[in-house]
Amino acid sequence: RTVYLNGEWLPEADAKVSIFDRGFLFADAIYEVTGVIGGKLLEYAGHSARLKRSIAELGMELPVSAEELLEIHREIVRRNDLKEGLIYLQISRGAADRDFAFPKEPKPTLVLFTQAKSVIENPKVKTGMSVALLPDWRWERRDIKTVQLLYPSMAKMQAMEKGADDAWLVEDGFVTEASSATAHIIDKAGKLITRPLSNAILHGITRASVLDIAEEAGIPYEERPFSPEEAKNAAEAFITSATNFVLPVTVIDGQPVGDGKPGPLSLKLRELYIAHKTASAI
Ligand code: PLP
Repeated sequence: RTVYLNGEWLPEADAKVSIFDRGFLFADAIYEVTGVIGGKLLEYAGHSARLKRSIAELGMELPVSAEELLEIHREIVRRNDLKEGLIYLQISRGAADRDFAFPKEPKPTLVLFTQAKSVIENPKVKTGMSVALLPDWRWERRDIKTVQLLYPSMAKMQAMEKGADDAWLVEDGFVTEASSATAHIIDKAGKLITRPLSNAILHGITRASVLDIAEEAGIPYEERPFSPEEAKNAAEAFITSATNFVLPVTVIDGQPVGDGKPGPLSLKLRELYIAHKTASAI
């Protein structure tokens, strides 16, 4: 792969970051993941807007202009001949002598790389995913997309040890989100229920689009927290994320959701989402 590192295009083996980088020492970095279909960027406007917000929340600065950033995304697709998969972008506060206080003159590290993978064809669409419920022990600013991913990674491993595909995290009796996706349910009346935006969850770009698409398709929705019990008794459940789009969840803590098969509204939303976003990819 050819990767981008601070203005340079390099073979991945030659891209080196300092051991003093604050991303490495303090997880002082934020990231974005943008889906790619047919060599085009999905939801770029949403991802770049959220990137700006994360950067502002941490008092960092984007080392390139908005126009340059889009051009870098396009160039990395070209250089890697990426047809389908994702672009990972990370900005850290850069290398500085180790100190909890931020450096006075930070030199941010900007990295982008690609991962080729099929995102439209996903075997879990047919079977649905299983999730295990685990406590949400992350920090309280989950709205900022930082690279502090140790707990989500541990939760995913624990879920897998229980035989599930992923974790749904629970805090104060309500589901927050999945380890790296937004959690949603559909009640027996066909209403989509999803947790409202707050500092407790990442403001999913796919979530926002799916709510718009649901509205257009005449699927009612309500933004409110839901409990694990409500989720287990729902008609359908699904997750959303940049590379999973809409993916049905059919088992929660060993219990089937509805009839244990991917739900019709979840599958409809997946189809509509892929059609809309492929058509508007840039
Ligand atoms: N929630 C968490 C914790 C995530 O890591 C992600 C990232 O994929 C999402 C939700 C979904 O966000 P998006 O739809 O913007 O990919």
